[in-house]
Amino acid sequence: MQQVTLKDKTFVPYITADKISVSVNNLAQKINTDLVNDMPLFLVVLNGSFMFAADLLKEVTIPCEISFIKLASYHGTSSSGTVTEMIGLTDEIKGRTVVVVEDIVDTGVTLEKLVSLLNKKEVKQIKVASFLLKPDAYKKDIPVDYVGMEIPNDFVVGYGLDYDGLGRNMKEIYVLHK
Ligand code: 5GP
Repeated sequence: MQQVTLKDKTFVPYITADKISVSVNNLAQKINTDLVNDMPLFLVVLNGSFMFAADLLKEVTIPCEISFIKLASYHGTSSSGTVTEMIGLTDEIKGRTVVVVEDIVDTGVTLEKLVSLLNKKEVKQIKVASFLLKPDAYKKDIPVDYVGMEIPNDFVVGYGLDYDGLGRNMKEIYVLHK
């Protein structure tokens, strides 16, 4: 792994593909044990989690369904400011166990909005699987049930994560060179 330049920034190797793979497989085994009787619906949050979701779900062997959503934010006309909308969900999710699949949880603002949208749909329970978590930045109460790796408050790219649209296709994770 060599350093890479994306637009105006340089990134250095951080997490190897082998380490990613071990951690993703461990997560899948935990999910296989915990949710064996729940017929979960995995809700993959695009774009960033496409690579993590593909690797994870290849190792999930319990009966399950998979769906893909996107979050769209826009400034509503109400005084509350930004409104977040979930687009792409066609499945009936009332009464189901939903596993949110995220690439990274940083402050948790995005996750909190998504969970509140899902709760309005009367799901049975929500579990959260995120490949990366920044514990020093995360200040919300929602449990992140399945975490691949915890990282410091640094900006990372690769394995689905982008810098200004670039770098999502890299199979390793890189961190911004300071
Ligand atoms: P939040 O602060 O709401 O938890 O994070 C929201 C989003 O910010 C993530 O889903 C991700 O798209 C982006 N993000 C947070 N930290 C990083 C990072 O280190 N690298 C990249 N590429 N995106 C990040």
